[in-house]
Amino acid sequence: MNDIASASVRPLDHWISGGPVAGASSRTSPVYDPATGQTTALVPLASAAEVDAAIKTAVAAAGEWRQSSLSRRAAVLFAFRELLHARSDELAAIITAEHGKVLADAAGEIARGLENVEFATGIPQLLKGGYSEQAATGVDVYNVRQPLGVVAGITPFNFPVMVPLWMCANAIACGNAFVLKPSEKDPSASLFIAQLWKEAGLPDGVFTVVHGDKEAVDTILDHEDIAAVSFVGSTPIARYIYERGTANGKRVQALGGAKNHALVLPDADVNLAADSIVSAAYGAAGERCMALSVAVAVGEVGDELVSAIQERLPSLKVGPGSEPGTDMGPLITREHRDRVAGYIGAGAEAGAKVVVDGREQDVPQDGFFLGMTLLDEVTPEMTVYTDEIFGPVLSVVRVATFDEGLALINSNHYANGTAIFTRDGGAARRFKNEVEVGMVGVNVPIPVPVAYYSFGGWKDSLFGDTHMYGPEGVNFYTRGKVITERWPDPATSTVDLGFPRTR
Ligand code: NAD
Repeated sequence: MNDIASASVRPLDHWISGGPVAGASSRTSPVYDPATGQTTALVPLASAAEVDAAIKTAVAAAGEWRQSSLSRRAAVLFAFRELLHARSDELAAIITAEHGKVLADAAGEIARGLENVEFATGIPQLLKGGYSEQAATGVDVYNVRQPLGVVAGITPFNFPVMVPLWMCANAIACGNAFVLKPSEKDPSASLFIAQLWKEAGLPDGVFTVVHGDKEAVDTILDHEDIAAVSFVGSTPIARYIYERGTANGKRVQALGGAKNHALVLPDADVNLAADSIVSAAYGAAGERCMALSVAVAVGEVGDELVSAIQERLPSLKVGPGSEPGTDMGPLITREHRDRVAGYIGAGAEAGAKVVVDGREQDVPQDGFFLGMTLLDEVTPEMTVYTDEIFGPVLSVVRVATFDEGLALINSNHYANGTAIFTRDGGAARRFKNEVEVGMVGVNVPIPVPVAYYSFGGWKDSLFGDTHMYGPEGVNFYTRGKVITERWPDPATSTVDLGFPRTR
């Protein structure tokens, strides 16, 4: 049966001017429940004209929102925070139904997104500038940070709530209107968030959702009324967004893909390292930009580590994310599941030792499931090592020394996150100092910074200068202005063609 013809397939809307708006283009994309493989919704793919019309409503709203008092903005953010908190179970269910991750993981993503809303409630404090009285005699100097106008966010499928919240909370708190182009693979969460913003008292048009694909994205990148673009997704698209957006004179921060390594030293507590690596490799079926997909085992720790990881896998349950007791859900689409399975075969053919083969695991047959795979003796030229697989596949690379492990990590073109497992403070200190990666964990497997720091990798994991959220997010969504002011007695005024001095 063609499931798209089924009556249970919901047509989704855009969210424009504070309410749902049906798509006007004839193009749509199916949204699946990855646990059943069924199509559950059709997301409209906006035409350039629809995106343009949506941006125009945002422009109209931005003018007034910019003038709203800081305390009013904070009040809206507090209300939004309360609503998100109160309705997080509903939102988690929406995430699980379209992404597939287990409910506890969906709740975790909301909690980490919520942190950014809480950070943004402090906007009156965050936008305080400096003031220098008497910078020259009778002259005072101070700075303000002002909103950019209309800013856009283009987000990936793997965090349909957290990543939009990384962006929109600060963008809106700073006085901008925000246009979200969420992933077309799990778009419903963005509409739920839009509804909550409205209930929180945000004026219509300040938060907009336009669904779409490349046509919508290109319209955003070329649009003269979009001042800045925040992007999170894969590296090739991040590079493209950065190049096209900046060529059009926009401010762009574009976060890309990852290949995150865990360096396990011989003195590490192997059980702690194995627990951490298993959690970070297979959580969310490996579809996290901070997943640990490579364990670099130094020296004699290798055999013990591989055994410890292997013995943890049989007790982990793969199944629908909505079922209690499930540890790992399905992958996002059938094509992606098959692509990940293809990497396992390629790894085996290239000489990796398949310790646990996820393709042979007993997993539900409906839906896009794949079991957990553990590959040992992976070498840097194998595709399982070079490529971001974004699935439940953990590669173990054996190295002889700390230096060899560090050099391996530093030679990778991705540089999002990394972690070291050791009991040796001196080795950890050297690692923190010398590793060329943007986010580093010491005995912490997924070092996603808290909301009052900023998130971002280096090299091909981030294009642009500014990391996301936290203080750097506030800077990204505002521009600085410095005001030099005096109130002299007009009677003392003279013409002086010399360059103004402060002394
Ligand atoms: P993706 O790059 O395929 O899509 C991201 C966004 O770009 C989506 O909104 C999509 O509609 C849009 N897009 C896709 N192709 C496009 C094109 N040709 N032109 C214009 N726009 C296009 O990424 P994804 O598969 O949704 O997400 C997974 C990727 O995101 C992984 O590589 C993962 O590492 C990365 N990611 C990175 C971070 C980070 O913080 N660095 C966080 C989460 C995810």
